[in-house]
Amino acid sequence: MRAMTGWERYAVVSCHAERPLDDRVWAAFERLLRARPGGFTVTPLLRPPHGASGENEERWLERARIAASLAPLGHHTHWGGPTQARPDSAADPGDVVRAEAEWLRERGLEPRFFCGGGWYLDAPVAETLASFGYVDCTATTFRQSYLADDAPRLQLDAPARVRLPSGALLLELPATHSVGMLGRGIARLPGLVHVHFHDWELVDRRRSAAIALLLRMLARLRRPIDVEQLAERSAAAEEIAWDRATIRR
Ligand SMILES: [Zn+2]
Repeated sequence: MRAMTGWERYAVVSCHAERPLDDRVWAAFERLLRARPGGFTVTPLLRPPHGASGENEERWLERARIAASLAPLGHHTHWGGPTQARPDSAADPGDVVRAEAEWLRERGLEPRFFCGGGWYLDAPVAETLASFGYVDCTATTFRQSYLADDAPRLQLDAPARVRLPSGALLLELPATHSVGMLGRGIARLPGLVHVHFHDWELVDRRRSAAIALLLRMLARLRRPIDVEQLAERSAAAEEIAWDRATIRR
């Protein structure tokens, strides 16, 4: 039996914070975190600094600590640097996530939530996440039209506990809507809504205002909770076996 009552009629919001070192993007993002439109605590899924691109670690850490003081902290990996979200090299994607997770923890930051860049997820990444105790937000309830049919990803209808090949369990809190999808679908929402957007979308004033307005509208239709609360409510979510294709329709 599926435990549906734990999260029906709730909404959470997460943000892929891909450019926290861009001053304009960060300023807009910090403003949103503090403003909490609709009462939403937006979860910042922060992309760690990319050493090879010369990104400033000290400034990044200052900003990550501010984000962590305002919301449950998350981790977003771009495997190929700032502008390349999905893996594009021979490096094991799981090793990249492990190195970032260790780097964060050595600096006193312990994000509990994760989202893979470009919605990438494979077994080594999933196992790495489980080993650090992450709750994953990489799954989506919808299919990305720009990804190839066999692109590694995970599609789930609802929060689920995924039993990995090692036997470890990984809790997935799938995203249900981009901002555009929320705008088009606000009249026919599913029971649980998990909206995601990107920090750089906030630099455009009109887009930023639209996001704030949509979140205020959403708050009238679904009760705002944060991802910590959704993870708690999903503790008894359906358990499913890891699908080798990582695609589940
Ligand atoms: Zn990204």
